[in-house]
Amino acid sequence: MSGQTVPLPEVVRGALTHCQGCGHETLERILDLGHHPPCDSLLMPAQLDEPEVAYPLRFCRCTSCGLAQIDYAVDPEILFFREYPYRTAMTRLLRDHFGVLTTEATQRLGLGANDLAIDLGSNDGTLLQGFQAHGVRVLGVEPTGIADIAIANGVPTVNAFFSEEVADQIVAEHGHASVITGTNMFAHVNNLYPMLRAVSTLLGPDGVFVSESHYLLDLLEDVQYDTIYHEHLRFYALRPLMAILERSGFSVFDAERSPTHGGSIRIWADRGQREPGPRIAEMLQLEAERGLDDGSAFLRFRENVLESKRQLLEILVEARRNGRILGLGAPGRASTILNFVGLGPDVVEATLELDGSLKIGQYTPGTHVPIIEEQAGLATNPETLLVLSWHIGEEIVPKLRERGFKGKFVIPLPQPRVL
Ligand SMILES: [Zn+2]
Repeated sequence: MSGQTVPLPEVVRGALTHCQGCGHETLERILDLGHHPPCDSLLMPAQLDEPEVAYPLRFCRCTSCGLAQIDYAVDPEILFFREYPYRTAMTRLLRDHFGVLTTEATQRLGLGANDLAIDLGSNDGTLLQGFQAHGVRVLGVEPTGIADIAIANGVPTVNAFFSEEVADQIVAEHGHASVITGTNMFAHVNNLYPMLRAVSTLLGPDGVFVSESHYLLDLLEDVQYDTIYHEHLRFYALRPLMAILERSGFSVFDAERSPTHGGSIRIWADRGQREPGPRIAEMLQLEAERGLDDGSAFLRFRENVLESKRQLLEILVEARRNGRILGLGAPGRASTILNFVGLGPDVVEATLELDGSLKIGQYTPGTHVPIIEEQAGLATNPETLLVLSWHIGEEIVPKLRERGFKGKFVIPLPQPRVL
C-alpha cells in the first residue's frame, strides 16, 4: 500500500501473477470456479458444432492492498464483441436507478446547459438520457455495437474503447467534462491505470468522477458467486478502491451503498477540493468489522459458496426427478451458476427471456441450455422454475404467480430455497 516499490500494472492480459491494484505479487486464491467460457458468449445453433474456448475463473484477494480480483484477464475483444446482448433499458429497475443518480448528480454539482456529462461504458444511453432531461450536454463512450442504439435514441456516443487517445479527442471536440460517470464498468477495464489517466485528462479541474461498482461486502455476505465472471476483473471494497484512485490523483469525498446489481458501492471523487464526508469513515469501519481487511470474510465466503452449490444440486436433483425444470432469465451471471454447479439441458431444459430479448434462439455458453421465449416456455407447464435472475426475483416471482404459474420456484442464491 504505502511505500510503493513495484510498478503499477498498465494493461492486464492472460494469466495474472501480480495484484491489479497495487502491483505486488501477493494474490491469495480464495475460490477456483473452474474453466468458464465468457459469460455473454451465447451460442447460435451452428456454433454448437464447433469447439468452445474456456478460461480459468479464480477469485483471489491481494494480501497487500485487499483488492478482490480474478487472476485471468480475457482479451476485451473477446469479451465485448459487437453483438454484446445486454441492453440497459431492458432492466426497468436500472433505468429508474439511473434517473435518481443523474438527478442527484445534477443537483449536487449544480450542473446546467454549459456542463458536459460523459458516461463511460454508456451502453444504449439510458443513464445519459437522465442528464439530458435536466438540460445537461451529454456524450457516451461505448465500445460495442449498442452505441448505434444510443445514437438512434438521440444520445451522442463515441463508439470506441475508452483510452487516453479517445479522451484527448473528446476534449478537443467537446471540451472538458464536469462529471464523468462509470457505472458497472470500473470493474471491467483491463487497463485500470491508463483508464484513470484518461478520466483525469477528460475531467475539468473542478469536475467529479462518479463510479458505481458491485460492492464486495454484498458479494461476500450474500454469497453472490454468480457475479464472478471474466468481465469482472476486480470487485471493490472502499479501502482498496480509494487507494487505486489516490494513486491516480483523485480523492474520494463521498461513498454510499445502493441496491442495484445485488448491492453496489458508489463513490464521488474529485481532486481534493471537496471535504470528505462522514460516510467514508463509517464504511471503512464497517469493512474492517466484517472481516474484509483481515481476510476472514473471504474464507467464510468460500465455505458458503461450496455449501450453496451442494444444496442447490440437492434441490434440483429432487425437482428433476419430480418433473421438468426451466430457468428464468439468461443474464451473464447465470452462466457462472450453470457452469460452476454443472447444470446443462439434462437438468434445466431451457431458460426463458421476455419477448424481444436479443438472446432468444441462442444457447448459454458452456452448458448449452436453449434460450426460449417466456410465454411459450410457461405454456408447457414446467413443474419448477429456477430463478437465474434471482437478483430481480422479487419483481419476477409475484408477476408469474399472477399470470397463473402454479409450480415451484427455486431461488439459487444466497441460500438455495424452494418457494
Ligand atoms: Zn494489491
